[in-house]
Amino acid sequence: MPLPSLPCCSACGALLRPEVVWFGEALPQAALERAAAAVAAADLLLVLGTSAVVYPVAGLPDLLCPGAPLVEINPDPTPLTPRAALAVRAPAGAFLSPLLDALPASSA
Ligand SMILES: [Zn+2]
Repeated sequence: MPLPSLPCCSACGALLRPEVVWFGEALPQAALERAAAAVAAADLLLVLGTSAVVYPVAGLPDLLCPGAPLVEINPDPTPLTPRAALAVRAPAGAFLSPLLDALPASSA
């Protein structure tokens, strides 16, 4: 199928892309370090919409303090399920929408 011309950066000519990490790309190290610090300091960890098998992010729950609950929201069981204090079998969006709606506007 022919594709339309894709938008390019006006400064360097490279293809524009969203600010996401594609499968197979390395994560920005600083972001991974911030995530690790946040998990280590967390009182509760929500793990949403992931198979929990792609490292290094799949290893982040290992940094959660003992006693801090892990809540998994995913349609299917994952390797984290046995460690979850609560496992919700639902798509992340279906679970989060009513939760976010219930939060005070200043917290959302
Ligand atoms: Zn550029």
